Amino acid sequence: MGKKVLIVEDEKAIVDILVFNLKREGYETEFALDGADGLEKGRTCDPDLILLDVMLPKMTGFDVCKTLRDEGKTTPIIMLTAREEEADKVFGLEVGADDYITKPFSMRELMARVKANVRRTAMDAGKVESEFKTYGDLQIEEDGFRVKKNGASVELTQKEYDLLKYMAARPGFVFSREELMEKVWNYDYFGDMRTVDVTVRRLREKIEDDPGKPKYIITRRGMGYLFGE
Ligand code: CA
Repeated sequence: MGKKVLIVEDEKAIVDILVFNLKREGYETEFALDGADGLEKGRTCDPDLILLDVMLPKMTGFDVCKTLRDEGKTTPIIMLTAREEEADKVFGLEVGADDYITKPFSMRELMARVKANVRRTAMDAGKVESEFKTYGDLQIEEDGFRVKKNGASVELTQKEYDLLKYMAARPGFVFSREELMEKVWNYDYFGDMRTVDVTVRRLREKIEDDPGKPKYIITRRGMGYLFGE
């Protein structure tokens, strides 16, 4: 079965071209033409990724994203934002989107981002549960996608998990934002470094006892981030 992408976009012409291109790449698609239907399908159709427009009838893309995250859904979300609205990019990340792409986008860039963000499942790793590696009160699954803190599951989005796992593999090493962007987000083009910063902040809120005084994801001013044990 192909991965399923939910498209939430009110311009039918854009929906049609996205459906056409996604299907050609082997994805299944669902779509919604307004925010309320997008939220409902995000809850019920079990997508592996959501492409979410910002300006939508009935409910904005930001509200859809925030509601899904508040309900504990960790489905990867890529926001479709208008190029001129710089503030929208960061706001989308703040409310829990994994990534954004500005309109008008090239189909090649969009497909690269879908591929980089689509949810990978335990089945992809070839096993249901694997060993957990322990770092302080944190446990990170070796070949899967689960994280526990003091034995309790922590719900991370795909990119939060990817970032944590990538950094935890080399405790004490300072990673530059550029390296994290390239290795964790898999972009072969220049990404926005704020994506890294906002994802770090969200990750801290989930795994740190005191996000203001982090002990796992530590900032090295002017250099980047390191994973401390
Ligand atoms: Ca729109």
